[in-house]
Amino acid sequence: MIASFFQGGEFVFSKGRVGLYTLLKAMGVGVGDEVIVSGYTCVMVPSAPRFLGATCRYVDIDPVTYNLNPALLDAHLTPKTRALIIQHTYGIAQNMGPVLDWTGRNNIPIIEDCCHAFGSRWNGKLCGNFGVGTFFSGQWNKPFSTGLGGMLLVNDAKLLPEVERLYQAALSPSLTQEIRLWLQIKAYNMFVTPHTNALMMRLYRLMSGLGLAAGSSTNEEFEGEMPRNYFQRMAKVQIREGEKNILGIHALMAHRKEISALYKRELPGLGFRVIKEDPQVENVILRYPVRVVNKDELLKKAASKGIELGSWFEIPLHPAGIDMARFGYRQGMCPESEKACREVVNLPTHGKVTPEIAEKTLEFMKRYGRFCERH
Ligand SMILES: *Cc1c(COP(=O)(O)O)cnc(C)c1O
Repeated sequence: MIASFFQGGEFVFSKGRVGLYTLLKAMGVGVGDEVIVSGYTCVMVPSAPRFLGATCRYVDIDPVTYNLNPALLDAHLTPKTRALIIQHTYGIAQNMGPVLDWTGRNNIPIIEDCCHAFGSRWNGKLCGNFGVGTFFSGQWNKPFSTGLGGMLLVNDAKLLPEVERLYQAALSPSLTQEIRLWLQIKAYNMFVTPHTNALMMRLYRLMSGLGLAAGSSTNEEFEGEMPRNYFQRMAKVQIREGEKNILGIHALMAHRKEISALYKRELPGLGFRVIKEDPQVENVILRYPVRVVNKDELLKKAASKGIELGSWFEIPLHPAGIDMARFGYRQGMCPESEKACREVVNLPTHGKVTPEIAEKTLEFMKRYGRFCERH
């Protein structure tokens, strides 16, 4: 699916997290091992090592890039450290210089989380090409959709035979699952627009809660338990959807750049901070982060007005409601992440966001958003 974009071995799964799980397993990560990860992420990231008996160490973020702060890595290194996960948050490429120095010095393999970043580059090199392997999400709100699937890219040829063996052993989706996913893909493509987004997502969560739709995560997973059919390959309908959508990826990346440029041009005039320019970095922004002092109220207002605003991330191990202690996170571990969780909303850049919709979103921000004072 992503073979036209990346070299390396590609494997397709039911979710991006399953790609991470498979890679960690192939690397031999298991009971008692530790993985270092950003403390500003989706809880399904620490779930994957957890299901192998490993634990996570959470590194705080740089408040400007929302990516992990490499200066803090030393404090998290132990003799049990087996991997470092680099997440290019919102599509902002991690500053890889200090990361590569550190991993080289300590001989720690890098795994990239490209669930937000498709096409972003650091020093001209594509995010996804820096480590032993990379996982991608094909959820609806990710760089391109496979209708709830995920991809694993294996860059380290030594890992390929074991990943291949594991892939062959993974479950394949049942006919019922294929049909349900097909219906969901059709429904999504027909009904979800920026205007209906909040309503449709509420409906979708309700339906998946009742077992009427395949949700992005199960209650078991939120509680830290591995679901029975977790280790599963991508369904045929998802592969078809992904192969269709990847054809438009270059146009979509150009569109995201155009919409981000529009946000960048207009947000400062409204008092909001924009993503900092870095000459080493070329970003394809998935969701444009903006700090406000009235996040909760603003999200509610947006939903009531049919404006698509995102809440990533609500807590250091998103989403809100998770008992983070189960995943080894204690309040106060990552103060910059916790602050970002209180302050950041994000604006969409996807294909259904026309320049007019982006302008309406900015008007909404001007009217109701209360910006954070500059530091
Ligand atoms: C969505 C997401 C994931 C998980 O992807 P799935 O396909 O839902 O498993 C992991 N990391 C980040 C940063 C994400 O946004």
